[in-house]
Amino acid sequence: MEQSELQAIPEVPARLVFMGGQASEARARVLERSGHWRRAQMLKDLALLLLIPIVIWIPPHFPWPIVVAAVAAFRAFNHMREYRTLLSLHGPCPKCGTVQDFTELGRMGNPHKVTCASCRWDLYVEVARASEAT
Ligand SMILES: [Zn+2]
Repeated sequence: MEQSELQAIPEVPARLVFMGGQASEARARVLERSGHWRRAQMLKDLALLLLIPIVIWIPPHFPWPIVVAAVAAFRAFNHMREYRTLLSLHGPCPKCGTVQDFTELGRMGNPHKVTCASCRWDLYVEVARASEAT
């Protein structure tokens, strides 16, 4: 995604929670994904299967269709359960206080876990659900 597109998405308040119960306030950009978006992405992933008749001609032949099918299935499976996408996350670690941009972006798990770059503790991200889906 372009940086300018990213800037257009409003930041929402998020909470970073450390297992001991401490929490800190952070800012996050989250996209809510619609069922339509998930199905469209899944179909794109499955379109990779169309490469099989081509890659079969590349020596040593037999592994490539399996690799392509596995990649297509893996991507489709992940897109199918991508209800929310985390685009950015910025805030202080509740454990050590280091302010940072977290790098564990993309499909949001429930709960979504990130790791502090400074103290290496696992933190959980809580973002309130937005009203509209894109
Ligand atoms: Zn930390």
